[in-house]
Amino acid sequence: MQTYKGKVLVTGAGGFIGHYLTTYLVKHGYWVRGVDIKEPEYAPTDAHEFELLDLRRFDNALIATRGISHVYALAADMGGIGFIESNKGIIVRNNTLINLHTIEAARINSAERYLYTSSACIYPGYLQKETDIAPLKETDAYPADAEDGYGWEKLYAERVCRHYTEDFGLDTRVVRFHNIFGPLGTYDGGREKSPAAICRKIAMADSVDSIEVWGDGNQTRSYCYVDDCVEGIFRLMQSNFNQPLNLGQDRMISINELVDMVAQIAGKKIGRIHDVSKPQGVRGRNSDNSLLRKVLGWEPSISLEEGLAKTYFWIHEQLEAKGSMAHSMTVAS
Ligand code: NAD
Repeated sequence: MQTYKGKVLVTGAGGFIGHYLTTYLVKHGYWVRGVDIKEPEYAPTDAHEFELLDLRRFDNALIATRGISHVYALAADMGGIGFIESNKGIIVRNNTLINLHTIEAARINSAERYLYTSSACIYPGYLQKETDIAPLKETDAYPADAEDGYGWEKLYAERVCRHYTEDFGLDTRVVRFHNIFGPLGTYDGGREKSPAAICRKIAMADSVDSIEVWGDGNQTRSYCYVDDCVEGIFRLMQSNFNQPLNLGQDRMISINELVDMVAQIAGKKIGRIHDVSKPQGVRGRNSDNSLLRKVLGWEPSISLEEGLAKTYFWIHEQLEAKGSMAHSMTVAS
């Protein structure tokens, strides 16, 4: 009989990062239960058990966490800036229910450790008003002025973890992702984020063409490839560090530069048509990785060029397979 290092739960295992994390944990000798409201969209799961459960219901959260020692809580109703700007009520309701139910069920079922996936969207707007901003340190989160809706709910869920540690002794980890991307991520339908949206638009463009870009394209971000992300999640879970920790790259580039990079990968000459009426999020955002390096003795290292090339060619392949290589849509920021 095979022995495992432990029984773990990945919520949101039908989603982008959850899918990779499941594969990673299985490879590293864990028995994995994946839970999601939907099946993985692009590739079959490696989970030993995969259950379709809506975690907005407490009874389902109890089923999900039964017999589990480590919970990786990734389930969320989320998407790129276009989605989170226009669905705040739905997002805060769904995610509050998911997060409270999952952590309370984990406590009742005596889970030992609980990792919550927060976001750079918790950082205050007043620190992100320029394109050339200082990288965001974990302590910058307060005084709070999070991204309306999605960001405030994430910050609230971070506090829930802290209170469950203080009051109930549940050992928690909180990771703040900065723009994770890669193959198998949503690339159309309205929830896609900027790297996937740009890849899709360029894949669908002619060899000399223009694509629409939201905002003036000078807004800045940093991007982290998904393989680095799951490595960081696992390292954090193994560590003894129970305060929020950034997980991202600290190489900041503009959306215009991102478009040019993908165009080069695609071997196309792509112009940009800027639509400043579209949501573009904060003006500038980058991750300060000082604490990440100190705590984990590690930081993401896969280059943006390498990650984007993998992502671009995967999206190109998907579009070709669907027979949908026609012009369309917008680029989120
Ligand atoms: P994703 O949307 O691909 O995955 C989230 C999964 O949660 C989806 O498969 C979705 O079906 C599932 N889900 C939604 N509602 C559910 C419910 N009621 N019950 C059960 N499952 C439900 O997103 P992702 O990019 O893989 O993100 C994973 C986590 O990381 C999320 O919490 C997200 O907020 C956070 N995060 C991601 C990024 C990023 O750049 N991808 C950045 C910051 C934070």
